[in-house]
Order: sequence, then C-alpha cells, then structure tokens
Amino acid sequence: MTSTDWDYVIVGAGSAGCVLANRLSADGRHSVLLLEAGPPDTYPWIRVPIGYAKTMFNPRVNWCFKTEPEPQMNGRQVYWPSGKTLGGSSAINGLIYIRGHRADYDGWAAQGNRGWSYADVLPYFRKLEHNVRGESEWHGVGGPLWASDIGAKHELVEALIAAGAELGIPANADFNGATQDGVGYYQLTTRKGFRCSTASAYLRPARSRGNLRVETDARALRVSFDGVRATGVVYHQAGRELAATARREVILAAGALLSPQLLQLSGVGPPALLQQFGIPVVRELPGVGENLQDHLQARVIFRCTKPITTNDVLKSLPRTLLMGMRYVFTRTGPMAIGINQGGMFARSDPAVDRPDVQFHLATLSSDMAGSPVHTFSGFTMSVCQLRPRSRGHVRLKSADPLAAPAMQPNYLTAPEDRATLVRGIRLARRLAATRALSAYVAGEYRPGAEATTDDELLDFARDKAGTIFHPAGTCKMGPAADPLAVVDSGLAVHGLAGIRVVDCSVMPALVSGNTNAPVIMIAEKAADLILAAANPR
Ligand SMILES: Cc1cc2nc3c(=O)[nH]c(=O)nc-3n(C[C@H](O)[C@H](O)[C@H](O)COP(=O)(O)OP(=O)(O)OC[C@H]3O[C@@H](n4cnc5c(N)ncnc54)[C@H](O)[C@@H]3O)c2cc1C
Repeated sequence: MTSTDWDYVIVGAGSAGCVLANRLSADGRHSVLLLEAGPPDTYPWIRVPIGYAKTMFNPRVNWCFKTEPEPQMNGRQVYWPSGKTLGGSSAINGLIYIRGHRADYDGWAAQGNRGWSYADVLPYFRKLEHNVRGESEWHGVGGPLWASDIGAKHELVEALIAAGAELGIPANADFNGATQDGVGYYQLTTRKGFRCSTASAYLRPARSRGNLRVETDARALRVSFDGVRATGVVYHQAGRELAATARREVILAAGALLSPQLLQLSGVGPPALLQQFGIPVVRELPGVGENLQDHLQARVIFRCTKPITTNDVLKSLPRTLLMGMRYVFTRTGPMAIGINQGGMFARSDPAVDRPDVQFHLATLSSDMAGSPVHTFSGFTMSVCQLRPRSRGHVRLKSADPLAAPAMQPNYLTAPEDRATLVRGIRLARRLAATRALSAYVAGEYRPGAEATTDDELLDFARDKAGTIFHPAGTCKMGPAADPLAVVDSGLAVHGLAGIRVVDCSVMPALVSGNTNAPVIMIAEKAADLILAAANPR
C-alpha cells in the first residue's frame, strides 16, 4: 500500500477540519494532510446564500442521511442532511450566526472540563470572527469568519419584534452579546453577499502553503494503531486504498455522525458492538456513538395576508428576475439572505432561568426545510427546544466502512422535551394572535386551527417535525471517571495516544442555539492545544 508521512492527518474538511488545517499549517513547522470524503466545493450554489435549497437534497455535496425509524415520531425516518464537500456542513448550512448561551459552556466546565467555561471560550469566539459591526467586549474583527447583518428590514420580522413586545419579550439586536433573550434579526455568516463557509474563510487562504496537502474524494476507512498509539489513517481514493502516517497526531473531524463511526471501525468503542462485527478491540470506550443529541424543529406555518413573502417573489417571473438582478448587481435581497431572517430566544415557561426555545422566522413556507415553496403567500415560525433531554446513538450497522451507521436520535422520548415543544408551539400561536402580527395572518396552515389539545399539537410534531440539523455529543468530552466520556478536556481520546476528536461530537451537551460557530470555536481552541503540545515553551 502506498504510504505518505505527515505530522498531522486530519479527517474531514468540515467546519472544524478547515480551521485545523489552517491553524496547524500556519507556522510552517508541521506538515498537514487534510482528507475529505466529498468533492471540491465548486458547485456554484454553495456560494449563494439562497442556494441552501439547491444543496439540501443534493447528493453531490450532501450525505443525505436518514435516521432509523423513530419510535416517538410515528416510526418515521427523519431526513438528515450533512455537508460532504470542502467546508462540510458549513458549505450547505442556513448561515445563522449564533454562539449559544454562556451557561452552556459554564455547564461543560462544571462537568469537569477545565478550560471550557464561557470566560475561557469567549476569546476564541472573538478570534474566529470578523463582525461587520466592529469590535466590542463580545465581538472581534479581523478573524476569518464573517458575521454580517441582513442589511434590510422585513415587514414580517418587524411585526414579530412588535409582537414580542406585546407579550413582554424584549427586542434584542445581538443574540451573541450581553443577553440571549429576546427577538430580532439574525446575523449571517456571509461575506459581501456570499456564503462564508470554513472552506472559504480558513482553507482557501492556506491552500498555497507547501506544508498543507488537501485530498478530496478521499474517504478515511479506519485509523491504524500500534498498540494504543494512533499511527495514521487508511483511506480510499479513486478505487485504491492508501495509507497516511501521522508522526504526531490523527485528528478526527468527520462530524458527529461519522467520527464515532470511524472510531468504532478502528476498534474503539463499546466492546459488544465491535465484537458483533468482528472488529478487534483496541480500546473499550462505551461512550463512542452514545449521547447523541439533536434539536428538533416544529415548523408552524401561516398564510400571509400580504404578497410580501419569498413565496410571492418566487411564483412571479418578473419578481424572480428582479431578485436575480438585484443579487448580481448589489449582492443584496432574498438571494443574499438564505432562509431565516428573524430569530427569537424565549422562555416557554416563566419558571425557567434562561431561554428554552429558539424561533427561526422564515419569510417563506414549504412542506420541508429546503423543499419548494408553497404557491400561497406564507411564512414559517420554526420552534425548537434548546436543551433536549432525549438521548440517542450512532452505531455501526455493518463492518463496511462505506456503509452509513445507524443513527437514532430518539426524538421526544423525554417527557420534558414533549412538554417544551408543545409550549413553544403555543407561544408561536400567541405571537400570531398579537395585534402586530395578526394583521399578517390569514390563517394557520400548520398544524391548523383544528389542533387544540396538547396531544393534538404533539401529534403534529410527531408527524411533521424534523431536524434543525444539529446532531452532537457522540464523542463526549468529559473526565475519565465519566463512563460515557470519549475525549478529555484537551480533546484527546481517553486511554489512547496520538488521536483527538475535534468537531460537533465532543459537545458534552448541545449548545442552546445553532452549532456552526461553536464548532469553529472548538477547533480554534483545539488548534492551540495541539500546537502547545507540539511546541512546549
Ligand atoms: C442543512 C444544514 C443547515 C444548518 N444550518 C445551520 C445554521 O444556520 N447555523 C449554524 O450555526 N449551524 C447550522 N448547521 C449546523 C452546522 O453547520 C454543523 O453543526 C457544523 O457544520 C458541524 O461541523 P463539523 O465540523 O462537526 O462537521 P461537518 O461540517 O459536517 O464536517 C465533517 C466533514 O467530514 C467529512 N467526512 C466525514 N466522514 C469522512 C471520512 N470517513 N473521510 C473523510 N472525510 C469525511 C464530511 O464529508 C464533512 O465534510 C446546519 C447544518 C446543516 C446540515
């Protein structure tokens, strides 16, 4: 087998992998190989924010996974998109720029993960960012990831803000600032009207470095070990099996669904599972693939009284052409925005100490996120419970490294999750009934006025709710005493040498918000930890 030698071999060029490739190759002292299973990010719709709809179901850049049949979701298999190209999921995501709540990180630290409190991670959030609003206590400038304002007001978002005021929910111009509570406009990870994926923000500026090699269409099959030391990665490319040796470290950044699969395929995981597929055990780690968490979204859809929605633009040829021209000449308008403009972090129950639901307001409506828009004027309030208690798993279904593993989120198995989601749907209805927003509501399309009891609202969620695309937690960070912990607070795999996991899977608990910026923060911090280990002072 042909083999090449590197200091670091990184698996997966997604949100985390591109950050690592840039930072680890920056000082020129170390050679870095970045392996990506997907193709280069040349598909043109990746760059255009509204291209979200073109990549959502597109196997060219998307793994297009499905969960196992979900017991609490009427046995449905829930569609799980995931990016498969340079930039990973940051190349196909909804561009919403959110960090989560400071208490999320303080909670990670309280679980024994030193160095991960909000005060510890805030410098990394500031480092990764170029916020068009300028520098402040909370925000940075000059970082690779652009956070931009939407730039134009929309009547529906303005009405939602006014509706919030009627219900005592404050306006909030910065969900990533002093407080998360409130309603307002999201910032987006766009740069001058184009998507700012980690491939464009981090990888492109580093591509010309002689010590960084990027291999696309290169699928890692397993990590090789010498005893308990990781020595490299075996991968598949153009019909051949190749080997890459890592003199220092192998870093798994294949995401929360495929990093645990790679560990399991390599003999690291729950022993009974590995034995079932005849995989020799390198290290027993029962937590590999467990602790899977995701945000479920119930999309409450309203017919709009005015033809001001993106549905109206898209069903009119002249308005579509105008939208296209506006984008081409000014990089503004619906094509520069993507899907969701307005957001809200609210407390569905006054007894909770911080927001427990997040809303995404889309000025359009469709049956599924990313599917064709309805022919009527419509808008969507997507309701998501921020801190789900339900836990699932990712487990091998076969020893074939090219086969997808079983993904079982177990949505809505915890009673608290069911109760919070129902309260969130009721909050959407209360907002729609306010003086400010009711002027725009011609009727509730989904779940529909006939659903009134908690059970009926829950049935709607079981039947129609889907992912908001944040699977996490499958290689949990935690101290060795935690039976489910996979990595320590330095993100090194417990009981092994020369191997770390750096991606969404290390979150011990899902953050209260969208996950792209938090993953980039994790990778920024990991890069410092890795370089500190390589270059001790
Ligand atoms: C449709 C969608 C919309 C989203 N919207 C938002 C949003 O608006 N805001 C937000 O903050 N977050 C959003 N997210 C979530 C966010 O983008 C992800 O949580 C984040 O990108 C995950 O980063 P990661 O590095 O863990 O994994 P990924 O970015 O998914 O990267 C993993 C990479 O590893 C590669 N890979 C996997 N297995 C192998 C292998 N064996 N060999 C080689 N390469 C491999 C994959 O192809 C992929 O490129 C969205 C996600 C999706 C899918």
